[in-house]
Amino acid sequence: MSFSLQQLIRKNIASLKPYASARDEFSGNASVFLDANENSLGSPLLKWYNRYPDPHQKKLKSVISSVKSVPATQIFLGNGSDECIDILFRIFCEPGIDNVIICPPTYGMYEVSATINNIEVRRSPLTSNFQLDTIHLENLVDVHTKIIWLCSPNNPTGNSLNRADIETILNNFNGIVVIDEAYINFSRQKSFIQELMDYPNLIILQTFSKAWGLAGLRLGMAFAQEAIIEIMDKVKPPYNINQVTQDLAVEALQEVGMVNDMIKEIVAMREALAKVFQQIPVIEKVYPSDANFLLVQVKNAPSVYNYLLTKGIVVRDRSNVQLCEGCLRITIGTETENTLLVDALAAIE
Ligand SMILES: *Cc1c(COP(=O)(O)O)cnc(C)c1O
Repeated sequence: MSFSLQQLIRKNIASLKPYASARDEFSGNASVFLDANENSLGSPLLKWYNRYPDPHQKKLKSVISSVKSVPATQIFLGNGSDECIDILFRIFCEPGIDNVIICPPTYGMYEVSATINNIEVRRSPLTSNFQLDTIHLENLVDVHTKIIWLCSPNNPTGNSLNRADIETILNNFNGIVVIDEAYINFSRQKSFIQELMDYPNLIILQTFSKAWGLAGLRLGMAFAQEAIIEIMDKVKPPYNINQVTQDLAVEALQEVGMVNDMIKEIVAMREALAKVFQQIPVIEKVYPSDANFLLVQVKNAPSVYNYLLTKGIVVRDRSNVQLCEGCLRITIGTETENTLLVDALAAIE
């Protein structure tokens, strides 16, 4: 059997006639817009926010296209990656019938979104060195397996998945393979984005929330071949990316140099912090990281977590997560914040 997008998508989605917004129905030159029931007088804010945003995000996509070297037709934008994740479940997975595979420990939203959509989740845990168990994973696949969710670099473990393993899955699985690359900018590994044309079943997720420093805007990107992007566009709410986000993201994308500098600085601080952590008695293990956080194993994680809270420092307690027993996930902060953290941890015992 080979990959067939038409067979993978749910029947109701295949036959869906998308909502045509006022701005879709009219294309051409006009100066008087009386088609969308907006407030023609203006708004208390900047004048143009009285208008609905561009449902196709044309300007923003063209700028992303040139920054990422991916045609605009292969880009989908979501209200955060979280919206992209939800839309993929709704396109491909029939509630109560289909299933997906995740590789824990990993990002929690794949499972939450699956549960909201009443989709069975099958688990292929990572190995002890946080890599894919491809044989186990492939044994979980049946005719109802629609999506395999991979996260590389992975949250919360911080490492990248072996490229050869990902390629094996892309080549052998006839369903959708999602690679969540939220942390790719902090990684030594290269993105799969240049491989898009080789794999009709590949969807790559990236986000403005991490390296771009724009978590507050809620803007996620999905990259795939055009056929998949067209279906995602059909299913999304017409105005899912608001005009403020579209305008500010276009502005931010002019600052690639500044963002690259921040990435370099964060990676340098990550490496320095990992070294310092190794000298701190309460820290038993520092895992290698390709992301903007460090996973560390500490003595009595919940009590270290609570102790840090008393110092006003919040980290993520992952000690109850399988394969992350005793671990805290710590985001790289500013130089000042990192020093506060190190001083607090060094004072234990
Ligand atoms: C932070 C993160 C995201 C980002 O989600 P947004 O909705 O775009 O903020 C996506 N995937 C992973 C694995 C993450 O850790």
